[in-house]
Amino acid sequence: MIEEMKGSRDPKAMYDSVIEKDSKYVMQTYGRQPLVLSKGKGALVQDIYGKEYIDCVAGIAVNNVGHCHPKVVRAIQAQAEKLLHVSNLYYTDIQAELAEALVSVTGMERVFFCNSGAEAMEAAMKLARLVSGKSAFVAAEHSFHGRTIGALSVTHKSIYRDPFMPPVSSETTFVPYSDAEAIKKAISGNTAAVILEPIQGEGGVNIPNPEYLKEVREICNETGTLLIFDEVQTGFGRTGTWFCKEQFGVEPDIMSMAKAIGGGFPMGAIAAREGISFGRGQHASTFGGGPLACSAALASIEAIKEEELLKRSKEMGAYFMEKLRNMDRDDVVEVRGKGLMIGVEIKYSCGKFVDFAREHGVLVNCTSDSVLRLVPPLVITKEQIDMVVDVLEQA
Ligand SMILES: *Cc1c(COP(=O)(O)O)cnc(C)c1O
Repeated sequence: MIEEMKGSRDPKAMYDSVIEKDSKYVMQTYGRQPLVLSKGKGALVQDIYGKEYIDCVAGIAVNNVGHCHPKVVRAIQAQAEKLLHVSNLYYTDIQAELAEALVSVTGMERVFFCNSGAEAMEAAMKLARLVSGKSAFVAAEHSFHGRTIGALSVTHKSIYRDPFMPPVSSETTFVPYSDAEAIKKAISGNTAAVILEPIQGEGGVNIPNPEYLKEVREICNETGTLLIFDEVQTGFGRTGTWFCKEQFGVEPDIMSMAKAIGGGFPMGAIAAREGISFGRGQHASTFGGGPLACSAALASIEAIKEEELLKRSKEMGAYFMEKLRNMDRDDVVEVRGKGLMIGVEIKYSCGKFVDFAREHGVLVNCTSDSVLRLVPPLVITKEQIDMVVDVLEQA
């Protein structure tokens, strides 16, 4: 894919220097793979030795249109020459245009722009408290909503959460996922919102039963509780439709987006239905909806439309899952997913699979200890999928 690496430095010396600087100067929060990446194109990335990998991580469901999509790159380049940043005290054409595009793809009424998934969840939670006048939340076990204190207080996993508690809201109730009755029981007179991922990503690619979200919607309607969908990971074609909510035929009151929204450029947003909005001065972000992010997001949305990536996500996802299910392995517990959001649950911890796959030119991620999460760029080809399945079968 990629032209020869230039430069005089010996790649091994470069590799060692990167690892050394990281271990010395960066807080060691990530369990990193021994890989220094330098380039990417489509579903491929390349390390500094020039070795190529099929990327089934995709920045964790970020690079939906592929690495360095030419349209996104050109849009950022062109915008960078015009205006890098301007305060939200002023209007820009590109932010207005993106807002219109997001309203169109979400079916919601208005958006608010921020810079990440956690920030989008903060905005969603603030908005829910504001419009409901209530303060508590109901969230699901195994949920993941981000690392800020607010988003953490509705995130379930104890290693993410416990060292930083007490939560901002001491009133989060966690209930089993895919159990509508449990939500009904957990809602109190002070519940502002129920917060759910339509498919749990970090929690292990958990797909709820088909009626779950509909039932939750009805319970929320009956009790006057807001429903927030966290579509940070499931958005922008990942599951085969613009958003996962479409597959269950359920509309939330507020939804969060981030990850793939900017085609690889950092951005977050929330969208809310008619009548649910912040008023003047009630929320803000210095960088939210900045020109570079908006140009990247618009280009990415155009690419998804032009290249029919929603359809492609469905088709390639079905192909991928069928091949995975036909693998001749007895240590696979289950292959599950929608579109190109796929989990392969195996009988033991999947760390060794990740290493083997990497050594054989495939990047995969292990979540919830025993689930291989496959969330490749939606532009991945059948040939690439065949190669990935081959490697996983050997692993
Ligand atoms: C990644 C993720 C977040 C947090 O996004 P950040 O941009 O890392 O803050 C929130 N919710 C879900 C479902 C996610 O997958």
